Amino acid sequence: MQYASERQQIIDIGRRMPVAGLVTATDGNISVRVAEDRFLISASATQVGSLTPDDLVVIDAEGTVVDDDRRASSERWMHLTAYQTRPDVNAVIHAHPPHCIALSLAGLTFPPDVFPDAVLAFESIPTTDYATPGTKEGAGVIADKIVNRDAVILNKHGALAVGEHLDAAWLKMEKLEQVVRMYIMARQLAGGDLPRLTDEQMAKLLEVRRTYGIGKK
Ligand SMILES: [Zn+2]
Repeated sequence: MQYASERQQIIDIGRRMPVAGLVTATDGNISVRVAEDRFLISASATQVGSLTPDDLVVIDAEGTVVDDDRRASSERWMHLTAYQTRPDVNAVIHAHPPHCIALSLAGLTFPPDVFPDAVLAFESIPTTDYATPGTKEGAGVIADKIVNRDAVILNKHGALAVGEHLDAAWLKMEKLEQVVRMYIMARQLAGGDLPRLTDEQMAKLLEVRRTYGIGKK
């Protein structure tokens, strides 16, 4: 079977997603770039936590399946937009992390100057405009956010993380949900907005981030 090792990588990361509480049922999907304009992605209506090599199909840059007669995931447009926008990206993970979704359902965004760990990992965490999940139009809202960030919250829907390779994208997704979870916990304890980091504290954090190269973007 073509791209056997890439299929196995997707299967392995996919298994971790429901365990980490990032998906349920048929939520979420993973893709990797296997050639300049060929991408391995789950077929429609598969479960990301229990994929088999057969559940993955190869699509071209237009989203057409080239090696099978099944349909690819309805969220392939979002993956393709990420690859188009970021030529440095070779893996995309989409999940439905509960705290990321809850934050956006509440009409809140993640402030860039509150949580040092989040600054080091992401610099900032943007939330996209709202769009109907699973539509080609819906994929458009991620382009202006993913262009300079590796992880974004999809408004009232989920999250998207990208990386140079699949492990990098996975670490981003796992970290994203964790920092948002802690932000929500702290916000509940405080009963509202949290104290902001000073300009000087932010400048030092961004300097550390640049020096140690935590995260591509
Ligand atoms: Zn989704």
